[in-house]
Amino acid sequence: MKTGAPDLRGAHILIVGAGVFGSAIALELRRAGASIQLIEARLPPDNASSIAAGMLAPAFEAALDPQGASFALLRAARDLWPDFIEGLGPTGFERCGARMEAPGETLARLASAFSQFGAAFESASGGIFTPEDWRLDPALALRAMMAEALGTDRVPIISRVIGADLQSVTLENGQFLEADAVVLACGYGGLDLAPELSALIPIKGQIVRFPGASFFGGPILRSESGYLVPGWGGALAGTTMQTGRSDRVIDPDVTARLVAQAIALAPVLAGVETQASAAVRPATSDGLPMIGQSQSGVWLATGARRNGWLLAPMAARLIAGGLTGQAGDGRFAPSRFQPL
Ligand SMILES: Cc1cc2nc3c(=O)[nH]c(=O)nc-3n(C[C@H](O)[C@H](O)[C@H](O)COP(=O)(O)OP(=O)(O)OC[C@H]3O[C@@H](n4cnc5c(N)ncnc54)[C@H](O)[C@@H]3O)c2cc1C
Repeated sequence: MKTGAPDLRGAHILIVGAGVFGSAIALELRRAGASIQLIEARLPPDNASSIAAGMLAPAFEAALDPQGASFALLRAARDLWPDFIEGLGPTGFERCGARMEAPGETLARLASAFSQFGAAFESASGGIFTPEDWRLDPALALRAMMAEALGTDRVPIISRVIGADLQSVTLENGQFLEADAVVLACGYGGLDLAPELSALIPIKGQIVRFPGASFFGGPILRSESGYLVPGWGGALAGTTMQTGRSDRVIDPDVTARLVAQAIALAPVLAGVETQASAAVRPATSDGLPMIGQSQSGVWLATGARRNGWLLAPMAARLIAGGLTGQAGDGRFAPSRFQPL
């Protein structure tokens, strides 16, 4: 345990959901000395976290998604990653930077936004590059976090949680588990487990993987219509933001558009095998996550919109702090939403 870190020795905590929020919280609480149990409805988890592109992208996200969090907040969250993954197995973490090619007026708008919020960048003819945006490999990182949090010989309890309160959960398989505290990190799931969760908004995202393109390295590539993330597990091209959609149906027209955008960014991908997936991002009406205690007493960590990977170590730190009596971050307080 690091000096000054929250001390949860002797505490037993139940964490619901093995996405990036639940896994990061499990790891942080374990490092703080707590005994933890992670409960997940499905294994292998098939969720937003596992299909995500794994960008840790404060600069382009702040510039392109004005409804989301600010650059300062996103950069502070990104800066927690190097320490957070210290001692873990491979995560695919790279300070790779990101480059966009676009018409001059778009590049000028981006340069002005980057300057305004203080992001480092370089302009070159036809493009703009920022070293602020990094990446990791979601599959590797989830595996590494889980192994460290649970130990290599343990897996989460597999069952859907159907009831939760201050110190207990009820599972669909009939089990009733007790603990000192309960953390719900269910993404856009378990909406009836705490009153504030009814305020969550689903945002469907479809993405395409090029599994055979693992040779493809370098910065994240962006255009006005999408992105291409190089990675050792295959390049990823994304994505859609379909607010209000909570289904995971693959739309072949969207797949074709994402493939065409990716080939425009990297012609080497023409003819390479593709796999499409879709998942649901949990979001809130003000674009910020919900991290803190519910009026029901359970702890909530969800609503990260399109930056769940980026924000996960920050969410984990806030939950660990909250469980040891530290004040939370009011911007993320679940109480800002009136339960429906
Ligand atoms: C296409 C796409 C690309 C993305 N790219 C990026 C990116 O590059 N960078 C970035 O930072 N973010 C990205 N995101 C956003 C990010 O993936 C999400 O914000 C994040 O994964 C949300 O994590 P989570 O742990 O809250 O939810 P989830 O990943 O959805 O995990 C929640 C888990 O809880 C489980 N669960 C739900 N209900 C219950 C229950 N009742 N009982 C037990 N278990 C339950 C679910 O099965 C699931 O495994 C992307 C999202 C999408 C869809």
